[in-house]
Amino acid sequence: GKPVCECNQCYGGTDCSQLSPNCVVDADSGDPTFLEPYWVKHAASSSIMVAGWHRMSYEFNDGSLISEELISHIRKVHAAVGNANTEGKYIIFGAGATQLLHAATHALSFNIDGTSSPSKVVASTPYYPVYKEQKEFFKTEDYKFSGDTSVWNDTDIDSSATSFIEFVTSPNNPDGQLKKAILQGPSVKTVHDLAYYWPHYTPIPAPADEDVMIFTLSKLTGHAGSRFGWALIKDEAVYKRMLTYMDLSTYGVSRETQLRVLKLFKVALEGNGREMYDFGYNTMRNRWDKLSKSLSKSKRFSIQQLNPQLCSFSQQVKAPTPAFAWLKCEREEDSDCFEVLQSFKITGRAGNLFGAEGRYVRLSLVKTEDDFELLMERIKKLVSKESESE
Ligand code: PMP
Repeated sequence: GKPVCECNQCYGGTDCSQLSPNCVVDADSGDPTFLEPYWVKHAASSSIMVAGWHRMSYEFNDGSLISEELISHIRKVHAAVGNANTEGKYIIFGAGATQLLHAATHALSFNIDGTSSPSKVVASTPYYPVYKEQKEFFKTEDYKFSGDTSVWNDTDIDSSATSFIEFVTSPNNPDGQLKKAILQGPSVKTVHDLAYYWPHYTPIPAPADEDVMIFTLSKLTGHAGSRFGWALIKDEAVYKRMLTYMDLSTYGVSRETQLRVLKLFKVALEGNGREMYDFGYNTMRNRWDKLSKSLSKSKRFSIQQLNPQLCSFSQQVKAPTPAFAWLKCEREEDSDCFEVLQSFKITGRAGNLFGAEGRYVRLSLVKTEDDFELLMERIKKLVSKESESE
């Protein structure tokens, strides 16, 4: 049967059917619940049961903290999509990509003799705010968040006794663009955050083959609450430093989580995953079509331009369908775009959090259909108000 869900904040009543007209639509968080209907359809085959005496030990029978069977399924998932080359790569798990982002920073800024200056951690604006927030929160002598990539030129990099760690997010959060590393040279290390490099959100031009690549279950199957991510790592020394980080912070990822993820992958991999990716892409395509159509009538608001590319997975030329709209307030006086949207009862995420101008706001498009419909209703109002006032 259909699961009983909690009401969206804009609906009330016993069956969640009463719309409260003045509620504020929440388009802030990137909670990927748009995939829920796919899992409702596969409710029985995707469920697990764990008896009380199961999986009590810290470790698997071979003494490791990582399920080999899950590793082999991760390799299969990447092979089926063609989004990352896993050959010869080490694989490590984390409590979401969030933990792995920090583990990678730790591993790459490892200061062997303790005498060099802190590694400079950089990302291109607009960037995912957590990179900066983590570095500033877990202050150490090993690294320092050092702002936008473009501030640093070749001379800085060549002359420097410091190393750089560049975070590359592709497709990017917030604007959905496919990105390449900017900095180059022997003192530069890169972390590729490929959380959104899946067919739901982007054409897949070619398998990624980078030194450190981070993925998350959150954006692949939608199970953000399971807190599961993985990293593919080329270099053994970096892998070992990330392992040490995991050992000393949480001693690995919950075995229940690993069991659940394995089950989800088994279901998602049926027919090479076509059904899940078709569902994910079609849902996002539909949302982008509606949003673009509505905003095409507006002069006050614009969204990012995204160029179609050949997708090797679908063998079709496709326009990207990113998780977020990166909305810009075009009017001179609308420099605080977050407030402008708030006055129309839409909560987005302000551009300055991403290192960008306040005339940008990120809107989440990955929540439930109800959330999206409410957002569209508000956007249509906003656009029609604009033509009234002209
Ligand atoms: N990287 C990016 C670019 C993200 O957008 C997110 C989630 N919003 C994460 C990492 C963290 O994902 P997780 O849920 O796996 O911690």
